[in-house]
Amino acid sequence: MNICIVGTGYVGLVSAACFAEMGNHVWCVDVNPDVVETLKQGKIHIFEPGLEDMVKRNFEDERLFFTTDLKEGLDKAKFVFITVGTPCNADGSCDLRYVEAVAREIGQFMTEPKIVVDKSTVPVGTADKVRTIIKQELDKRGLDIEFDVASNPEFLKEGDAVSDFMKPDRVVVGTEKESTYKEFETLYAPYARSRDKLIFMGTRSAEMTKYAANCMLATKISFINEMAGICEKVGANVREVRLGIGSDHRIGYYFIYPGVGYGGSCFPKDVKALINTAREVGAKPELIEAVDSVNNRQKKMLSRKILDYFEAQGGVRGKTLAMWGLAFKANTDDMRESSALSIISELTAAGMKIRAFDPVAHVKAEEILRDNDLVEIVHSQYEVLEGANALAVVTDWNQFRNPDFEKVKASMLAPIIFDGRNLYDPAYLGSNGYAYFSVGRRPVG
Ligand code: NAD
Repeated sequence: MNICIVGTGYVGLVSAACFAEMGNHVWCVDVNPDVVETLKQGKIHIFEPGLEDMVKRNFEDERLFFTTDLKEGLDKAKFVFITVGTPCNADGSCDLRYVEAVAREIGQFMTEPKIVVDKSTVPVGTADKVRTIIKQELDKRGLDIEFDVASNPEFLKEGDAVSDFMKPDRVVVGTEKESTYKEFETLYAPYARSRDKLIFMGTRSAEMTKYAANCMLATKISFINEMAGICEKVGANVREVRLGIGSDHRIGYYFIYPGVGYGGSCFPKDVKALINTAREVGAKPELIEAVDSVNNRQKKMLSRKILDYFEAQGGVRGKTLAMWGLAFKANTDDMRESSALSIISELTAAGMKIRAFDPVAHVKAEEILRDNDLVEIVHSQYEVLEGANALAVVTDWNQFRNPDFEKVKASMLAPIIFDGRNLYDPAYLGSNGYAYFSVGRRPVG
C-alpha cells in the first residue's frame, strides 16, 4: 500500500518505518527541514532503540521517502496518517492547531479519494472537525472528492516503540464506513495476526479509548505513589505491599511501581485534556482530577526530601547534588514533562547546584537547561559525583541499577543517596555506610 505520514516524531517515524518494514511504500512529511535532511542522511533525530537501522534499511530499499512537501506525499497515498503533536493549552485543553493545519493542507492538495487517519491523540469529536476542514477546503476549490476520516490512536511506548508497533496488544480503529474498515484490515493484517487484536468501533469510541487507556495507566501510578506516601508514614514497605497486591490477578504487578511521578509527552497532557473535555460536557472528572494532583505532588516528592534533609544543615544553598537521569523514563531521550525538570527547578530555586548525567537525554537537557547557571550536564556517570553532597537517582536506566558503590562513595563528599526509583536495597546500603532515602520505604543511615 502507499501511505503518507504527516509528522515524523516519535509516533510518525516509528509508524512509517514499521509500515515500510512490511513492504508498504511510505512518504514521511515534516514541516521541519532539519528533521527531513537528517532522515535523508540515514540518521534519526530522536533516540528510539532499533529505529535507526529500520529507517536506514527501508530508506535504502526505497520503501521510505522523506519530504517537507505534503503534496508530494499525498499524491501517491491511499492512507494519510496525521501524527503531529497535540500539546496542552494553558487551561489543560488539547491544542489542535497542528492537526487542523494538516487537515487544511490535505483539503488544499488532495486530488483523489483518501482515507485520512487521526493517529495523534485527539479529543472526542476531532475526526468530525478534520472532516469539516477538509470539506471546506475542497468546496473552496469547487471539488467533490470522496474521503473518510478515521481514528486509529497509537498505543506505543517510547523505549519499546518498534516492538509495540510490530507486535501490538491491540489495534483500535474507529470508523463508520465498511470500506474503510476493509482497508484497515488489509493494512494491519501483518501486525495483528490474531483477528481479536483488531478492534473496530465508532470513531468517537476510538478517540475516547486512547484517553481512557492513558488515564487508567496514570491512575495506577498515582495510586501506588499515594500508597507509598502512606507506607512511609505507617512504617510499611511499599515494595512488599506491591508484591502482596499484585499477586491478585485482578490487580496484577504491572505499572504499580512507585517513583517520582509520571511525565513524558502523553500522560500529563492526556489526563488534563480528558479533565477538560469532561468539564466541558458537564461530567465531573473527580478521579482523574485527583490522579493529576497526586502526580503534581509526587513530582516534588524527591526534592522535598532533599530540602528537608539539608534543612538541619543550614539549607541547600551552596550544596551540590549529583543527579543520575534526566529523561522522563529509561530508554528515551524525551524530556517533555520529565520529573527531573521539576526537581531541578525546585532545588535550584533554593540555591542548590546540580550536576546531572543522563546517557542519552543529555543533548536535549543541555538545550532546555542552558539558561540555568546552577546546572551542569556532565558526560560520565561517575565523574558527575565528584564534589557532590548527595546523589539523586531520577531515571531508571539499567546502568544505574547495579553501580560500583565503593566508587560512588569514594567520589562523593558524603555517601547519601535519594533514590526516586527504588533501585537499591536499603539494608545493603545501610550496612555499607550510606544514608539512603527511597520511596515508600524506611530511610536508612
Ligand atoms: P513529536 O513532537 O515527536 O512529533 C511531531 C512532529 O510533527 C514534529 O516532527 C513536527 O515537526 C511535525 N509537524 C508539526 N506540524 C506539522 C505539519 N503541519 N506538517 C508536517 N509535520 C508537522 O510528537 P509525538 O511524540 O510523535 O506525538 C504525536 C502524537 O502522538 C501526539 O498526539 C501524541 O500525544 C501521540 N502519541 C505519542 C506517543 C509517544 O510516546 N510519543 C504515544 C502515543 C501517542
